[in-house]
Amino acid sequence: MRIASVRAIPLLVTLDEPQRTGVATYTRLATTLVEVRGDDGTVGYGECLARYSPRIWAAIVDDLLAPLVVGADPFDTERLWTVMFRDLRSFSGHSRGMLVEGIAGVDIALWDLKARALGLPLYALLGGATRTELAAYGSSVMVRERKQMEADAAALVERGFRAIKVKIGVGVAEDVGNIRAIRRVIGDDVDLMLDANGAYRAAEAIDLARRVEGERIAWLEEPVVADDLDGYARIRAATSIPLAAGEAEFTRFGVRDLLARRILDVLQPDVARSGGVSETLKIVALAASHHVAYAPHVGFSAAVCVAATLHLAAAAPTFLTYECIYTANPLREALARVPVGGPAQLRDGRIPVPAGPGLGIDLDPEVLARHRITDW
Ligand SMILES: [Mg+2]
Repeated sequence: MRIASVRAIPLLVTLDEPQRTGVATYTRLATTLVEVRGDDGTVGYGECLARYSPRIWAAIVDDLLAPLVVGADPFDTERLWTVMFRDLRSFSGHSRGMLVEGIAGVDIALWDLKARALGLPLYALLGGATRTELAAYGSSVMVRERKQMEADAAALVERGFRAIKVKIGVGVAEDVGNIRAIRRVIGDDVDLMLDANGAYRAAEAIDLARRVEGERIAWLEEPVVADDLDGYARIRAATSIPLAAGEAEFTRFGVRDLLARRILDVLQPDVARSGGVSETLKIVALAASHHVAYAPHVGFSAAVCVAATLHLAAAAPTFLTYECIYTANPLREALARVPVGGPAQLRDGRIPVPAGPGLGIDLDPEVLARHRITDW
């Protein structure tokens, strides 16, 4: 088989209700999908992490990456990843950022295409399923009035989640109050993670961590911005709460530096950002060599990223827990004809891994058309 075409599909939706983290308020969600078509008619889909202006990523895919892979054998994923990465680095001088997210979209589509061509679920090509059901946590109780956050947390436990994550970062005192209130509401048997999205300076994060150490926090995620590795080191030395990060990293090279500092307990690469399936496999292996668990990031991504994440999680021996997003996002909830990886799929606190060929999802063309940016 040869690759006949590579095509970007930029998508955008307006949310009915804004969603607020400690550092940003989202009124619209975007993503860019990648469709790779083989000359035998087999089609694979990938996704680039594209939070805004998804046409930027579409241009990267259509203008820069497609010419590098059209005509090639789609089974050459390792070679094609290297061709894309080296070419972009050589011509543009960039080896991080949107270019790597573009590569991620193409790479995921190639893996989907390969697995579909073989009639196998993607995890079978990744070494087989270590597990077919994933431990999962409800993500995330967004920043709202405290009473509403308490109600949101209680609702997640009611739905069957045995672990939940809460957005923090609005101020240490208010966060501490929110965390204590939510711990009271959910009881002692539910795991509680905190995500600051890099809102704090190290001293503030240390203050917060010390004040909530008695609340049995499973991890503190991105307490400071990703670039502040010294800040992570200070926080780690000052608290017994495990630290999590990695959603802001792009390739094995960034992750290598993060791991070398011995500041993390949990690594959270996002397959749609960190170079796709090919690169995430390397990142997870690198983390394993440092005894750091793999807890994939999904965030506001769409159904293609979710499905690829489920397969990687199924295959990875060091997988810890899956980020099951429950907040509204039509790009995640409605894009696949049969939804995967959402709270509606939760059984006994676990999420099943799709078993169909490729990513195990079929995209709904009507939903694609509805959200597609048409002046592209
Ligand atoms: Mg996060």
